[in-house]
Amino acid sequence: MTATDTVSKKATAPFHGFGTLAIHAGQAPDPHTGAVIPALSLSTTYKQSAVGVHQGYDYSRSGNPNRADFETAIAALEKAKYGLAFSSGSATTATVVSMLPVGSHIVSVNDVYGGTYRYFTKVATTHGVKTTFADLADPEALRSVLQDNTRLVWVETPTNPTLRLVDIEAVARIAHDHGALLVVDNTFLSPYFQNPLTLGADIVVHSCTKYINGHSDVVMGAALTNDDQIYDKLKFLQNSIGAVPAPFDCFMAHRGLKTLHLRMRQHEENAQAVAEYLQASSYVESVIYPGLPSHPQYNLAQRQQRGYGGMVTFRIRGDLQTADAFLQHVRLFTLAESLGGVESLCELPASMTHGSVSPEDRAALGITDNLIRLSVGIEDTKDLIQDLDQALTKAVDSPSVIE
Ligand SMILES: *Cc1c(COP(=O)(O)O)cnc(C)c1O
Repeated sequence: MTATDTVSKKATAPFHGFGTLAIHAGQAPDPHTGAVIPALSLSTTYKQSAVGVHQGYDYSRSGNPNRADFETAIAALEKAKYGLAFSSGSATTATVVSMLPVGSHIVSVNDVYGGTYRYFTKVATTHGVKTTFADLADPEALRSVLQDNTRLVWVETPTNPTLRLVDIEAVARIAHDHGALLVVDNTFLSPYFQNPLTLGADIVVHSCTKYINGHSDVVMGAALTNDDQIYDKLKFLQNSIGAVPAPFDCFMAHRGLKTLHLRMRQHEENAQAVAEYLQASSYVESVIYPGLPSHPQYNLAQRQQRGYGGMVTFRIRGDLQTADAFLQHVRLFTLAESLGGVESLCELPASMTHGSVSPEDRAALGITDNLIRLSVGIEDTKDLIQDLDQALTKAVDSPSVIE
């Protein structure tokens, strides 16, 4: 534990509120200058007073004060003993998979993030690690795909873009019975709405690029755990592989994280209103949002999550052309990939985020050509609904007017 960790743990005890931790964990005033916000530490190397004697840092790949502060903060929010930051969510995935011995087997939920799918199928395989993709809506389905060499079960919940849920507690029990670790990618809900470690997950990973930073201006990732051995392995790999974030990105992501609770509340309030508006619209075929009683796993959402998040997916009444027209007519929503920023975004998974998934797999996952994914931002609710309303009307009534 570094000097900063000790100071910040002292600073937050005995306060445990989410917002209090978001603002104070890993954020002790500078003991030398009194600066309330710790300085950006760009130095790559640190003075040693004698050989091997230093103040907790020797080389910035191995450890950096801004990174340590961020790691302390995100660990506090995920109720984790340890946090480790990486240069992206994808680098986090790669580092976690590097823990596995050659010849290991992974079971992954089938509609996993596209980049994770690509890593499992095109990169991990070159290191002798194979992955089976399974629909884990029924946790018992996990039993039939476990192999003797299954070391890791990889879950996202809600999934992307069809927002299916996985029962973390049930999957953790089955994985542990088998001696496998459970990793949960908690990017979509953020620690504000779900803490997988408290439900039995061994490792939580985040693309901090999304809600954690929340302002669409940093690419970063994190892994959280309560297990000493897992932490030691990941810490060793973080330093050995070296996919570490820059100090400035840690500084920015830490600044973003301080308002996570406020942002998530507004994301959810807007998403719920948008989902209800879409469900009532005659221009919409169906809406998927875990906060709607029509969601097939609404009960699980209520039990497992503390909220429903900011992502809403819907099928517009029409085809690819109608969807494309809608995406061109929106004014406040921006047609773009990614999610989790303060600004609202929309996209067409079939051609954009999930364009590399085969047409057969897309069909199996329900990623139809009229399926639109919204990352609902924190703008004023009525403006967002007004924007959707005008774009839907134009797109469905006269989809062919677009040049
Ligand atoms: C974006 C994303 C990732 C990958 O993170 P990067 O920071 O883009 O590398 C992983 N999982 C989920 C659920 C994501 O949305």
